[in-house]
Order: sequence, then structure tokens, then C-alpha cells
Amino acid sequence: MCLVFLSGCSDRKDLSFEAAYTIDGDLYPEGRIMNYVEKAVITNTGTDSTKELYFHIYANMYKHLYKVEDGDIAVTSVCDGSGNMLDFKRMQEGVLYRVKLAKPLEPREATEITFLCEVLIPDLERKYGISPDGDIQLPSFAAQLAVYDENGWDTEPLPEEGDGRYATVADYDLTIRVPEDYTLACNGTELSCETGDDVKTYRYYAEKRRDLVVAACKDYVCLERTVGNTTILGYFNETVNCVTPDNMERVMDYAAFALDYFNSIFPEYPYDTLVVTNAALGSNVAVNMEYSGMITVYFDTLGASTGSRMGTYHEIAHQWFYSLIGNDENNEPWLDEGFATFATGLCMEAEGTGNVDETYWDIYAITDTTMQGDKVNVGADEAEVYDFVIYNRGCMFLKHLMDTLGPDKFLPILAEYCKNNMYGIATTDSFLNTIYAGTDVDISSIVDEYIGKN
Ligand SMILES: [Zn+2]
Repeated sequence: MCLVFLSGCSDRKDLSFEAAYTIDGDLYPEGRIMNYVEKAVITNTGTDSTKELYFHIYANMYKHLYKVEDGDIAVTSVCDGSGNMLDFKRMQEGVLYRVKLAKPLEPREATEITFLCEVLIPDLERKYGISPDGDIQLPSFAAQLAVYDENGWDTEPLPEEGDGRYATVADYDLTIRVPEDYTLACNGTELSCETGDDVKTYRYYAEKRRDLVVAACKDYVCLERTVGNTTILGYFNETVNCVTPDNMERVMDYAAFALDYFNSIFPEYPYDTLVVTNAALGSNVAVNMEYSGMITVYFDTLGASTGSRMGTYHEIAHQWFYSLIGNDENNEPWLDEGFATFATGLCMEAEGTGNVDETYWDIYAITDTTMQGDKVNVGADEAEVYDFVIYNRGCMFLKHLMDTLGPDKFLPILAEYCKNNMYGIATTDSFLNTIYAGTDVDISSIVDEYIGKN
């Protein structure tokens, strides 16, 4: 018998990239249209060449996930910096695009790819579209280079559960024009806002981000807080249920508390702005959501108390676990959801008021026990019950580790894990290796309970 090892025959190349995007667009809320030109400068930092590149437009997943009839981001043409029209293929209902280059992109070379895009903005369904209250939320509309990892290009279909995003950090330079009576919010830093001919022109720069998001509304109430080197900018639509002046102030206070607290235990938040906006209401559903430098918060009927407080803490925790410390949300979603749920508990403890704090861990412990034996490091669609396994058991795995090592030992290890993976892509292995390097305490039984083989 002859064993043939195939690893040397793998199609995988040594490819890695840096990406920077310049986007110039016009938003016409009345016509529910946004048109934009996007120039992506892609630099090959690997040692092999490539004849093709893959891009994600994650906003197109919402149409598919939420069964929205209308609304799409259509790429109408793709060309390179020399003006050559490039052959491109729309895949996975517009979530993935393959672009064939006119000539191979060699190591240390850069190429410019220009996308012409048309957005038909649908009625809001959860995170994307125009709400009856006039909130416009447009997350992840830009074409962004797909990740090339040890398995090659990430062309996996998105999961039915969770957010499914997987992105390296990149720089985004956005210029966008809106009618004069609209105010725009964006996860980047606002560089300028000029008004002329009934049009406002905003320019933003978002450095080292995993996505680009804009929100727009006619009558945003704007609030501010300062935490360390960061200005928290609040943009709130007062016509939305529960978005009252008092509740806006509360949510801003929650955001300031969480940012300050997480700054004290994790590497300091590096961006000069963090945007908080109310989650838009569509079909009576509104969701909290995290983007790189922006969060949406649902103002609950309890007057922005319990739910909005936990929601704000959770989404701000995602500024570390998802944004600064990236992960593959399709294959290892517990690395952002489990960590954000755990960090929310820490924040509640640090605040130390009310019964909610005392019972926070207990709530998660119940489902943790129910799902005993289920491994947390599974793909989004593999989890038996997504929320219970990924959020709750992910959170309780970290809680058990903290209880075993003690917070004084565990939290510095967690900070070290953040430092090691800052702006990178973390994995379950990188987390475990950071713990093993940081302690001699035997944690094998806890790891065996929660972590399965990759
Ligand atoms: Zn989350």
C-alpha cells in the first residue's frame, strides 16, 4: 500500500492583502435610491500572484435572510485602474462577487478596482432599509475584499443563524451627498459637512474597520459624551417609540459607562468617535447591532432600562469582540457573541446596581445546564440552539474560567488575548493558547466540557 500525502498539491496559495476603499455616493431618501462609485485599492502582500479577487457585499444578505421582496445592491459594472472593463460574477444572491483581473496581481503590486453600484433601499427589516419612522439604516453596503485564509478564499454561503460576517480590517474614505434636511451618521470620523444647492456633502474616514455603515434621518437629536480619547456621538429619532429625551440621555450614560469600563480592562478603544443610534423599527421588530465604531440600540418599553442597558453594554463589548478582535462569524461565532455576552455580565457587575446584576449569570447558567455537553466552537448553523449554545454557553465557558482562575488572573489573560489579536482574526486556538501561556492551573475539564475538536 502506498500512502500519498496530498498537502503539497493544495490549490491554496500564499496570498494576503491590504485593502483601502474610496466611496463617492448620493443618497436620495425620497426615491429610496443610493448610487455610488467605489474604488478599491488592493495590495497583494503575499508571495504568490492571483488572477481573481472575491468581494462581499454583506448588505445583500438581509434580503435573503429576511425574505425581503425588494431592495438590492446591484453592481452594474467593474473596471480596473486602466479603464479595462472586468469580467465579474454575481454569486450567492449578490453577497459574493468574483472579479477576474485583466492581468495577474503579482506580489507587492496593487490594483485598483472600481465598482459602480445602485442601491434600491427596501422597507426596513431588522437592520437594513427605511423604517416607517423615516430612519434609514444601511450597514455593510460597500464591496469589501473577501478573506483569504488557510482554506483559500472565503466563499462559504452565509449561515441562516447569526451575522455570518468575516472581514479583515481596511480603511474607508466616504463622501456622500444627502438632501439638506437630512442628517447622516456613520461609523467613520466626520471630516467635513458642507451645505450648498440644497445638498449636504459629508466626508468620513474610517480607519482599520471591518465594515462601513451609514444611517440617516431628517430629525436626529444629537447628544455627546466624552470618554478618554473618544467622543460618543448619539443620533436619535424622537418619533420612534420610547426614544424620549430622558431615555436618550440614559442610553448615552450606559454607553459612556461601558466604554470607560471596557477601557479599564481591555486595550483602550482606539477610535476618536463611537456612534450610538436608536435601532430603527420595522414590522415592530428592532434589533441591537454592532458595527466597527457604531452601534444601534433598541429603546425598550421599560423606558430604556433593563433591555437597553444590557443591549448597550453588549454592543459596546462587540467593539472589542468582533470589531477590534475579529473572528469568522460563520464558523466560530462564539468568539464574538459568547465574549460580548460575558463582557456584558462583567459590566453589569461593575455597575453593581439592582437585581438584574445579581441574576445576570444565573439566567445564562440555566440554559448552560440545559445544553450541557454542547460545544461552543461550532459553526453558526451547527449549533443545536444558536442563542443558547453560542451566546449563553459561550458566556458561561468564560465565566467558569474566570471563577477557576480568579478575576485577577483571568481578566489580564483576556486583555492579553485582545492585544495579541488586535486588528487581526482570532480563533478558539489563539484564545486557548493565551490561557495556557498565562496560567498553570488545570482547566482541562472545563475546556473538555465546552470545546470540541476543530
Ligand atoms: Zn451580539
